[in-house]
Amino acid sequence: MDSVKTKLPFHILAKPIGPICNLDCQYCFYLRKEAMFPDHHAASDFRMNDRTLEAFVQQNIESSPRSQIDFAWQGGEPTLMGLDFFRRAVELQKRYCPEGKTITNAIQTNGTLLNDEWGEFLAKHKFLVGISIDGPRELHDRYRVDRGGRPTFDRVMQGLAVLKKHGAEFNTLTVVHRELAHHPLEVYDFLLEIGSRYLQFIPLVERLEQTQSPTAIPILGQDAGVAPWSVEPLSFGIFLSDIFDRWVSRDVGRVFVQTFDVQVGIWAGYPSMLCLFGDTCGRALAIEHTGDLYSCDHFVSPPYRLGNILDEPMGKMVDGAQQQKFGNDKRDTLPQYCRSCEVRFACNGECPKNRFISTPDGEPGLNYLCAGYKHFLNHIRPEMEIMAALIKNGRSAAEVMQICKAGKTLAPQDITPARNRPCRCGSGKKFKHCCGSGEASGN
Ligand code: SF4
Ligand code: SF4
Repeated sequence: MDSVKTKLPFHILAKPIGPICNLDCQYCFYLRKEAMFPDHHAASDFRMNDRTLEAFVQQNIESSPRSQIDFAWQGGEPTLMGLDFFRRAVELQKRYCPEGKTITNAIQTNGTLLNDEWGEFLAKHKFLVGISIDGPRELHDRYRVDRGGRPTFDRVMQGLAVLKKHGAEFNTLTVVHRELAHHPLEVYDFLLEIGSRYLQFIPLVERLEQTQSPTAIPILGQDAGVAPWSVEPLSFGIFLSDIFDRWVSRDVGRVFVQTFDVQVGIWAGYPSMLCLFGDTCGRALAIEHTGDLYSCDHFVSPPYRLGNILDEPMGKMVDGAQQQKFGNDKRDTLPQYCRSCEVRFACNGECPKNRFISTPDGEPGLNYLCAGYKHFLNHIRPEMEIMAALIKNGRSAAEVMQICKAGKTLAPQDITPARNRPCRCGSGKKFKHCCGSGEASGN
């Protein structure tokens, strides 16, 4: 089938083993998705076959308008596919990658099945490995258990040791569940202690309907209870704020917390690097083991199926009307309460999957996490304004740490440009040859 190049970049999360996992994390919505495939009777039915894999690799490369093509492998637990599957994926990537384009691979794993063979492969092929770990032992084992209900912390740490031994690059993904949210600094320090420098915190929000019905989808505007392990909205905001305070006073430029980095970009005036905080979304899709393409990993259910890549070119579906509407709905369904919110530019109502409560005046479609985001985004304002001013003046955002140590007294307008940047008086000269000529030279 001829590929169709898309107009704008997109990203596909590939699920080669569907929702199948060797663990049984109590909060995981993937496991209940098994029931979406009634014609699948054995675990072996949930495997991407070679024909689908080849079509996916070829189309992901040929449809992309970018020179770097990213492959993101997720599950369930993708390592259950076995190494041969990924060897084949890499072989196909090499075959279809034209000169001038580069390929990256990322894999999200619970880490429990990693051994030396995996470690060697992942390091050799420069896979970025995302390890799912929910903080120190007690918090991690609260929900992340295996199918026998046994804790998994030690097995994850073993997997991490394998990655370190082979020099594979890794980051951490931590699900912020109800109890974990009350231990922000303990969790942050633990993740740094185990060597993570790229941290992702994902708020756990699961509605009761999702736990009861595998095909249930979030319905905009319907108030509903959440599962008891869901994070409480304000707790999540305080969790992020407490970690932010430590990060901004000590770790900027050496530790990368995805939410904070994305926010720095937004406050500096760039488009959001993450769909969650963007005005619209729809460029982060998911492909199931069957080759079925869905609007988003959080919307893998029949109404959001775009088609199958064996029947229709992926690029056509990515740019198609159904997907465009999905992405625009994020903006078009935003309640008035959000439209007039002081931090809308940095939040944009976050993810539509979490928009199931009502605003104070009764309008449906408000994000369940709203109270948390309002707290967090207002809390970070002083430092964000300083970092934004630093970036706009060609200086390093990390300078915020010294400024904060000096007592947060510097207003953004008092931040001078880097010495080689144009002077802001409008003279057209470099700052060092103009208003900054009296300052100590350094560049
Ligand atoms: S903080 Fe709340 S009101 Fe403001 S944009 Fe986000 S969800 Fe909407
Ligand atoms: S639905 Fe949520 S996770 Fe999916 S693309 Fe939109 S903002 Fe991102």
